[in-house]
Amino acid sequence: MRFSQALIPTLKETPRDAEVISHQLMLRAGLIRKVASGIYTLLPMGVRVIRKFEAIVREEMNRSGAQEVIMPMVVPASLWQQSGRWTKYGPELLRFKDRHDNDFLLGPTHEEVITDLVTQTVKSYKQLPINLYQIQSKFRDEIRPRFGLMRGREFGMKDAYSFHNTWESLDQTYEDMRQAYERIFSRCGLGFRMVQADSGAIGGSVSAEFMVLADTGEDAVITCSHCHFAANVEAATCTANDTAPPNSSNVPAAVAILTPGKKTVAEVAEFLNVDNKFVIKTMIYLADNSPIAALICGHHEVNEIKLKHVLGVSELVFASESLVKKLTESELGYAGPIGLNIPLITDHSVMQCGEIITGANQSNHHMQHVVPGRDFVPTTVADIRNAVSGETCSQCNTGQYEIRRGIEVGHIFKLGETYSDKMNCQFTDQDGKNKPMIMGCYGVGIGRTVAAAIEQSHDDKGIVWPKALAPFEVVLILANTKDATLLDFSNQLYNRLQNEGIDTLFDDRAENPGIKFKDAELIGIPFHIIVGKTWEKEGLLEIKNRRTGEIIKVTEADLISHIKKLLEH
Ligand code: ATP
Ligand code: MG
Repeated sequence: MRFSQALIPTLKETPRDAEVISHQLMLRAGLIRKVASGIYTLLPMGVRVIRKFEAIVREEMNRSGAQEVIMPMVVPASLWQQSGRWTKYGPELLRFKDRHDNDFLLGPTHEEVITDLVTQTVKSYKQLPINLYQIQSKFRDEIRPRFGLMRGREFGMKDAYSFHNTWESLDQTYEDMRQAYERIFSRCGLGFRMVQADSGAIGGSVSAEFMVLADTGEDAVITCSHCHFAANVEAATCTANDTAPPNSSNVPAAVAILTPGKKTVAEVAEFLNVDNKFVIKTMIYLADNSPIAALICGHHEVNEIKLKHVLGVSELVFASESLVKKLTESELGYAGPIGLNIPLITDHSVMQCGEIITGANQSNHHMQHVVPGRDFVPTTVADIRNAVSGETCSQCNTGQYEIRRGIEVGHIFKLGETYSDKMNCQFTDQDGKNKPMIMGCYGVGIGRTVAAAIEQSHDDKGIVWPKALAPFEVVLILANTKDATLLDFSNQLYNRLQNEGIDTLFDDRAENPGIKFKDAELIGIPFHIIVGKTWEKEGLLEIKNRRTGEIIKVTEADLISHIKKLLEH
């Protein structure tokens, strides 16, 4: 491609609304332009990178035995009514009507469509297992679209769905997908980890996420300093018996004390001169429309996913201000377990505190000398908090948890029979009986992975693409386009590079050389071939390595073999 004719609108300035580096660089290097919040046009450079990544994904999926299909993005509501998700799926689902007043949705994921297809086309155990995938745009009306392609509303996903006659067969495909994902992300030169993930509302199933480790990641990943345990903080279990509770037999009776205007943990802890940890947070939620209270130590965070599992509910939202006031008969900020007539779900660590401070269910008051078990009886004691850095690993009981940030680029999931049950997806088994198919599903975020690659690989000059994802393998830079002989020579070089199958961008613009060098760095093409001063003075071409900055000089005759060697490694 000739730069002079290409649409590569690079920007000198960092766009103001782009917070993370990958978003900034995608805009500056001319890969994407925003159309609306979370909705982007991919420009030619962006398309090239995305297509390279898709090609890797496609190759590895095909190699694993999966078959490509393309499902529609527009899905009739009837399929989602069968699975129950038409009403269950929250406001992320974009629902709309066609001209005949029929309900439709834009697919955020495709379990229903694929299950329907397999129900119609696969009948016998002899046709199983089968793994079908697509690479397609999804739409999720995310509450907070941000970071460019990292969290868009319309975004590319590779989604695969496998169907099985036995659980062992599902295990096998799940393992094949794990290996395929390892290969995909390794081939892209990414630093990643597979971590245990929350398996959602479907009890007993297994799921793992592939996390690209990067400071800007939206997910917290727990790793152990001693064993191989790694999990999303959503899923990392906390050890129940970190410390034994102190003896509380001498604790005086619980008493309400005046804490005027002190509502937050920090305010109460300072006012009473105690550690944050002993000031218990009583959080009131509506769990499937019934109020419950979650109790955790002041320095911890409620893990709503764990709490949902403990309660066995599908919806958990904060109770409204008016409901909290009604239940606690006080202003906000003074809720506590004593006298609160709703289920009290209490974290293990609260029980280990001995003596605690809680709200008094009375404005401007807290309770002192509260002993859990003595002064209030928890309905359930469970692990309902996020794991924190430094606590003992729940798996090996030896190492300590460390927290890192990660970007979730892939997710593999044993779904089981949930969809087949609801959508009546059955096969005839060897014994002649009809049985529900067992399912797995496996996603990769296309744009998000590309963004993650930039997060991991850039410098102050711009993107440093891993070779596998670079929009071009080399950029041929002609410093001085005014000289007809040099232009002619560079044109010939460009043709040769192309004939050799080397993916080349030819910067033939009538711009000053400084601008061309800067753009080449910004766009991040791995190797720059420069027809410049060295060629004019010494008759040698320069090859610059974008990553290391190293420059080697080669003769025209050696150029192709050198470039090929560099591209191989
Ligand atoms: P998240 O927790 O980040 O919202 P998710 O659990 O909803 O992700 P999945 O439903 O597992 O995501 O989707 C499969 C993959 O699609 C994810 O691993 C991620 O890489 C990608 N993905 C999900 N949501 C988005 C989005 N809004 N923008 C870009 N990629 C996304
Ligand atoms: Mg999501």
